[in-house]
Amino acid sequence: MKSQMDAKAVLDLWEAGQRRYPYQRAMLVLERCGWPEVADMPLAERDRALLALYRETFRSSLGLVTDCPDCDAQLELQLPAADLDQMLHLPTPEAPKALEGVALRDVTSRDLDAVTNATDPAAALQGRLLGSDNLPEAAKEALAAWIDARVNAAEISLGLTCAECGAHWSEALDIPSFFWFELEIAARRVMRDVADLALAFSWSEEAVLSMGPERRQTYLELARAS
Ligand SMILES: [Zn+2]
Repeated sequence: MKSQMDAKAVLDLWEAGQRRYPYQRAMLVLERCGWPEVADMPLAERDRALLALYRETFRSSLGLVTDCPDCDAQLELQLPAADLDQMLHLPTPEAPKALEGVALRDVTSRDLDAVTNATDPAAALQGRLLGSDNLPEAAKEALAAWIDARVNAAEISLGLTCAECGAHWSEALDIPSFFWFELEIAARRVMRDVADLALAFSWSEEAVLSMGPERRQTYLELARAS
């Protein structure tokens, strides 16, 4: 890893994100890395920020491994983060006629947080975006379609083709889940290093994490060579 997130920050973040929803983990990551106003970022903007952090912290492309739904052949792709970022720059569609005069805005993490435990999350989200439900039925339907379109626009959908059988399908790419997957790998690597050094030299986690990466790596080589 090459970002400002050191081994302790990786572990703390990983632990804080246990038993959280993906959108809550995304907020945690950005908040801990100093992004302001995270809860009020539109979802596409949040994902662009996560992609930037992914490039800084892990690598410049995201590795996708998936199976063909028809013949089960495995497909491996490297997706440059810069290309994915471009896919999140979608123009805001014009509001339909039925919604003339209604102020519309994009869904944010604060909205997701507010409706997660609602009996009908979709209706609760509409209520939040509107601020009132004094709308004619046609406008309500148009609003539901608008929200769906905007939420879909904040997701990356990849068109894939199988090299073996030629099948076409699309796959949604969830940036918060990708980030968390890599963070999980990094956190487990840190914990394995701590465990190996504790076993070899009886050092505490705190002592191991306070070392610089070069020194820790050299001790690890010594511990694993013996
Ligand atoms: Zn196939």
